[in-house]
Amino acid sequence: MSFRVDVVTLFPEMLQTWLELGVVSRCINRSVVDVNLIDLRQFGLGRHLQVDDYPFGGGPGMVLRPEPIFAAVESIPDHTHRPVILMSPRGTRFSQAQAAALSVAGGMTLICGHYEGVDERVSQHLATQELSIGDYVLSGGELPAMCVIDAVVRLLPGAIDEQSTREESFTDSILEYPQYTRPASFRGWEVPEVLTSGHHARVSAWRREQAKDRTERSRPDLIVPEPNP
Ligand code: SAH
Repeated sequence: MSFRVDVVTLFPEMLQTWLELGVVSRCINRSVVDVNLIDLRQFGLGRHLQVDDYPFGGGPGMVLRPEPIFAAVESIPDHTHRPVILMSPRGTRFSQAQAAALSVAGGMTLICGHYEGVDERVSQHLATQELSIGDYVLSGGELPAMCVIDAVVRLLPGAIDEQSTREESFTDSILEYPQYTRPASFRGWEVPEVLTSGHHARVSAWRREQAKDRTERSRPDLIVPEPNP
């Protein structure tokens, strides 16, 4: 059975084209994943299919009302069997470890907010978790949802060559080693000699060393101190 993703969004078109390209599209065609876009507007209230309203207590902007979001999520078969994730800058930070955990959850439902945000009752009584893709505020949850879908789908069995996900950045708390391809000499900049040596053990040692250096330089926060013997 394929991994089921449902996305509740006011802008399904934003995801539509993206789903037709690259790794995710290939996974959809091979039934590794099944992605359903749910147009929140269709669950809007009244003649104008209203989805938002003024914040109680005042303040700028509009807030997404709970009824359309609850109705949209509750229209998804067996939605309680999978995580329901509210995309939110206040959520816990999305990471490779979270992507790995979600990739074995059987599927996921993502809710994309807009405007000033989403009525708190969605977070309290419908979502099982809130995820942020980083410490910045975007105008909608669609780009964050695409980030999460992409990171999760490429970890699904049959999505891409498993070796490539095993050696990637963040797996084992380390960034990836530098990659080179042809030409061996470009504008006088040479590919490190070890990579063309054909000596596998030396290549591995060099890559480990480079990955470590790079992590120390750009992301020292990733390095876990060695346990005391
Ligand atoms: N007023 C809110 C921000 C609302 S942004 C606040 O200050 O917290 C509108 C919507 O965009 C959010 O509901 C969320 O769904 C999405 N969004 C914005 N930034 C995000 C981020 N870093 N991670 C995940 N979702 C985000």
